[in-house]
Amino acid sequence: MKNLVTIFFVLSFGLNALAQQTRDDINIPDILGYKTLKCDFHSHTVFSDGNVWPDLRVREAFRDGLDAIAITDHIEYRPHKDDLTKNHNRSVEIAKTKENQYDVIVIKGSEITRKMPPGHLNALFIKDSNPIDTADFMTAIKIAKEQGAFIQWNHPFWLKPVFPTKDGKPTWFPIHQELFDKHLLDGIEIVNEREYYPDVYKWCIENNITITGNSDIHDPVSYFFEQDKGDHRPVTLVFSKEKSEEGIKEALFAHRTAVFHHDSLFGKEEYLREIFNNSVKLIKDKAIANKGADLYFQVKNNSDVPMTFILEKDDDDFKFPARLLLPAQKTIVFSVRPKSKDIAGQKELKLNYFVKNFLTGPEKCLKVEFNVTTDLK
Ligand SMILES: [Zn+2]
Ligand SMILES: [Zn+2]
Repeated sequence: MKNLVTIFFVLSFGLNALAQQTRDDINIPDILGYKTLKCDFHSHTVFSDGNVWPDLRVREAFRDGLDAIAITDHIEYRPHKDDLTKNHNRSVEIAKTKENQYDVIVIKGSEITRKMPPGHLNALFIKDSNPIDTADFMTAIKIAKEQGAFIQWNHPFWLKPVFPTKDGKPTWFPIHQELFDKHLLDGIEIVNEREYYPDVYKWCIENNITITGNSDIHDPVSYFFEQDKGDHRPVTLVFSKEKSEEGIKEALFAHRTAVFHHDSLFGKEEYLREIFNNSVKLIKDKAIANKGADLYFQVKNNSDVPMTFILEKDDDDFKFPARLLLPAQKTIVFSVRPKSKDIAGQKELKLNYFVKNFLTGPEKCLKVEFNVTTDLK
């Protein structure tokens, strides 16, 4: 009997060891007293047209460093419906069984799926998906709203080949205006899967609509995004008072979001500036050299967002690097060159750069300043 017990414990221990999983944290700092939560508000499972069982989404989210995901199976498009329950709540229920184990918040959502217009809209933070399965589109949106939903218009540029527009750009149809006017449109994806829509970003800025960027993943995440090559799914950054579903919901309605897509950040200047300030540090800001020689400085990036700096303009006496590349989690050394051998003594310099991949608007980059001291003997 003792041997059997020993075997049981050895086996259990063995199984636990197999259960170990590794998380790749996304290092983007907290800002302005808020937690910077990494979220994906659009994903599918076999309960609509996805190819994974719901609990895998939670394990993937843990591995990818996310704090929260929404499971948003289509209401109207369910290719496996003959093999699975017709209960629209089931995929989220299954995913929620892994919520505590991985400390990943699972948000209940549904994708209300119509031809364009109005297209596809996610109802997030709903309580019961089944009543949303109704023929009239406006009724479906209103039922979701009555449950406290945040309504996100997904991939506004989708179905472009079916609905070509005059200028080949995403179109804001009258029904979207109606939804917006009736406070039934809270957010829009400016990034979906691998696509970024600059025009949609512009709409959101002009109308103060919450921006999101999500994977809309159907396959296993690693089948679609080449994570071993540094690729990652798009992530919505939510600046939340706390790590909780309520905190995320409050932040979304208050427009406190940004988007991390590929190597770029999209969001309001106040958020991107704080992310920059809390990520980048001039670790050597004073340099001494002989007259006419180059002066060397060092800057460090503590975040997972690489940065490309483009010089705004040179100083009268010194030449600055036209372009600087500061990779994620690295330190670089850069030089400043006096324009003449006659320049001597101490001088405070301001180096003004645009962070090319920090987009505070579709055509606007964050402007930053490095202050250094030169001393030429
Ligand atoms: Zn869709
Ligand atoms: Zn979708």
